[in-house]
Amino acid sequence: MTYPLEFRRVSREFQVRKGLLDLRGMTLRAVDDVSLHVEKGETLGLVGESGCGKSTLARMAVGLLAPSAGEVLIDAAPLASLMSRERARRIQMVFQDPFSSLNPRLSVGTSVAEPLRMTRPELSSADLRERVLAMLEKVELRPEQADLFPHEFSGGQRQRVAVARALVADPSLVVCDEPVSALDASVQAQVLNLLKDMQDERGLSYLFISHDLSVVGFMSRQIAVMYLGHIVELASRDELFSHPAHPYSRALLAAAPGKGGTPLAGEMPSPFVPPRGCAFHPRCPIARELCREKSPEEQASGGHIVRCHFPL
Ligand code: SF4
Repeated sequence: MTYPLEFRRVSREFQVRKGLLDLRGMTLRAVDDVSLHVEKGETLGLVGESGCGKSTLARMAVGLLAPSAGEVLIDAAPLASLMSRERARRIQMVFQDPFSSLNPRLSVGTSVAEPLRMTRPELSSADLRERVLAMLEKVELRPEQADLFPHEFSGGQRQRVAVARALVADPSLVVCDEPVSALDASVQAQVLNLLKDMQDERGLSYLFISHDLSVVGFMSRQIAVMYLGHIVELASRDELFSHPAHPYSRALLAAAPGKGGTPLAGEMPSPFVPPRGCAFHPRCPIARELCREKSPEEQASGGHIVRCHFPL
């Protein structure tokens, strides 16, 4: 099968070279043996707490980081084999902070034009300008705003500019890493609806990453739950929301706004010294002896892929 994006047994380690003395020389495994794919025209949601490895996965998806092991494939071609122009033509990214993709010293029109300049060098300046203005209009900004600078926009408008920049070169896949986390709730809804409209219009595929399960649920038909570098559950949104199979997924759902549940107790263990056995066992309400001894393998359970000795 060919997918717009596929992770094949991908891992990523970091060696600590600077900083705290007691961490120096240690290895951090941020992503551990992850296999996932995004279907054409669909959204794969990826959810987990801060520090679980989801942004490292996002960066590997667009080639900003290379895997330590495994392979990232774009339409069945190894990402590592694609030239930067080809990568930019096929994949773009929307970051949490639009300033990551918008140069504060460039007008937004110039920033939005950058991916087009790279992927379509044959376009004249007039054609570039025409396409940029059309794209700004698509994200509900006015043509004259092309000549303004990022600091002259509100947070929501800046994220619209970042979406325009990501979509202007007509990629087939967009990686959205916490794209609405920094926005007010009302503005979040506008940006999410804009992303959905663009997907419907262009048949885009998204890898959509958030710590917020309700946001991921709004955007995605398929959801992967990540904990300390592992995918611990993969299921359709409906299955995950109605019958979470992993205790961590159940805890995230219970803690979601409006559910009235209590926040998940405890903190994610340090990735430098992951606990023996199942990494979730120190926080798991149903942990047993086996969980403290042996790390669980992935298993299929009622339409879910789940990494737990005792799925719910
Ligand atoms: Fe809980 Fe054990 Fe499952 Fe880990 S393997 S999530 S500790 S039940």
